[in-house]
Amino acid sequence: MSNNFFSSQNKDNSLKSQHKNLKDNYEQIFIEAAESIRKELDAFKPENPCSNCNIKDCKIEKKDIFAPYPSNCKYKDWQIKALTFLTIDYKQKLKVLYKNIMDKKNNYSCGKCGACCRLAASEYSYEQLKQRANKGDKYSKEFISVFVPFKSEDDAKTVNPEYFELLNKLVEDEKIYYYYCPKLNGNLCSDYENRPNICKDFPHNPLKLLPSECSFNEWKNEISHEAMLLKAKVDIIEFYKGKLG
Ligand code: SF4
Ligand code: SF4
Repeated sequence: MSNNFFSSQNKDNSLKSQHKNLKDNYEQIFIEAAESIRKELDAFKPENPCSNCNIKDCKIEKKDIFAPYPSNCKYKDWQIKALTFLTIDYKQKLKVLYKNIMDKKNNYSCGKCGACCRLAASEYSYEQLKQRANKGDKYSKEFISVFVPFKSEDDAKTVNPEYFELLNKLVEDEKIYYYYCPKLNGNLCSDYENRPNICKDFPHNPLKLLPSECSFNEWKNEISHEAMLLKAKVDIIEFYKGKLG
């Protein structure tokens, strides 16, 4: 599989096509990640401890990681080791993966198109963002310090129809709220020196859908495989923790 889903061979580089490629490839990446984690956990698996086991009436046939082993079974030790590995060692690995992805962003810079200031989306309404900010949520506080809601969805759509449609499609049945920043002057920030961290750090999520104008799409293209692999690993580990914890 190519490391870059949006290679030059892919002539259709529209947002829609990029989104479809991401979805199509995630399933395969998820399977690869699950297989690689399974192999790592299998390294702790004891070799046939049942041959000299004194526990009577053990009816567990399939000795997989999720079986309900009795407390003094060697496979139970395996489960405990696996859980510790996933919650401590693996967490550290994921942090390194995330850092590598974000470090690569430093090779790219903002193209000053203003698209992210002109149309931003949130799963929260303005009221909800205010409530979250009052409860100490830093992101919400910064967000409402610059962004204001559009009067209507039509107004938001007019600003960037392609980006609007795709954001809508992404959330499917869930509600999404649209915002703009009144500090944008032409394509530039009129309060650049005082802009909050959410603006300085944008885009802060490697899987975030970006406007097609955004120059950080090149970074996203470069790291899309790593980012999806990271997401798959996070999801799989949460699953294991839920089952083993
Ligand atoms: S404060 Fe400046 S950089 Fe931030 S969203 Fe507004 S115009 Fe853009
Ligand atoms: S959309 Fe991307 S390139 Fe355009 S202003 Fe925002 S961060 Fe910069």
